[in-house]
Amino acid sequence: MNADLHSHSVFSDGTLTPEALASRAHRNGVTLWSLTDHDTLDGQVSAQNAAVALGLSYLTGVEISASFLGKSIHIVGLGVDIQNLPLQQGLEHIRRGRWQRGQAMASALDAAGIPDAWQGAMRFASHPETVSRAHFARYLVQQGICPTIHAVFQKYLVPGRPGYVPHQWASLQDAVGWIGGAGGLAVIAHPARYRLTDMQEYALLCAFKECGGTAIEVVTGSQQPSEYSHYAAQATYFGLKASRGSDFHCPKESRMDIGSLPALPPECVAVWE
Ligand code: AMP
Ligand code: MN
Ligand code: MN
Ligand code: MN
Repeated sequence: MNADLHSHSVFSDGTLTPEALASRAHRNGVTLWSLTDHDTLDGQVSAQNAAVALGLSYLTGVEISASFLGKSIHIVGLGVDIQNLPLQQGLEHIRRGRWQRGQAMASALDAAGIPDAWQGAMRFASHPETVSRAHFARYLVQQGICPTIHAVFQKYLVPGRPGYVPHQWASLQDAVGWIGGAGGLAVIAHPARYRLTDMQEYALLCAFKECGGTAIEVVTGSQQPSEYSHYAAQATYFGLKASRGSDFHCPKESRMDIGSLPALPPECVAVWE
């Protein structure tokens, strides 16, 4: 089974349409796919239709922005009912906050000597309601302000840098609750990315388990291969299943192509089992 259960399209900060992503997944040998755009279900019908047309098994998906211990964390929901009202309303509320944060980021960049960042980011955001730091980063690269997306993040868009605006996303309990209430499975996305201390990571996994979470990503394009075995061990310790997903956004930017990940470590119980 070549499962890729984490990817992005133009409905959030990816650069391919759901149809182009489905074709790429199919070409790369994916057999079970999920499109997991940030805080929106708007690409789901297109993704599912494209997958079915190609004979690809499909799970509905979403990546919900949440806050935990003052950090931004991401919770993937798999197999959710996309008509579920509390989930839809929760996501709509997050998108409103995302929009306001985007405008505050543009003001912060303006104060740092980079004018017109809102209009600039909008040129890269075909679905503006999910405007992301990635859209701002693409604009700054286009303007020649930094050579790469990664450099923009390091210089402007991470905590302590001039374009970073702290933001309160959904609570962990709400994010996991909306997913469960919509019949889906909650998965902690790329746990290594949050730079948590051992104590904070323990607290996150305990709280996640307590509010009904099912799995953590073990093999992901947003984690180093050297980190896979630690999260396989954490999954076993906490009785969580393991997920696998590239977190693919863009052919030119993403480290891992869709469908190109190594297998889960053998001790893991896969979330799709
Ligand atoms: P946001 O949800 O608007 O805060 O933006 C987070 C998104 O920015 C992530 O989903 C990634 O797509 C992207 N991102 C975060 N950190 C980096 C980084 N260091 N380099 C490149 N892209 C990043
Ligand atoms: Mn993203
Ligand atoms: Mn993420
Ligand atoms: Mn992602």
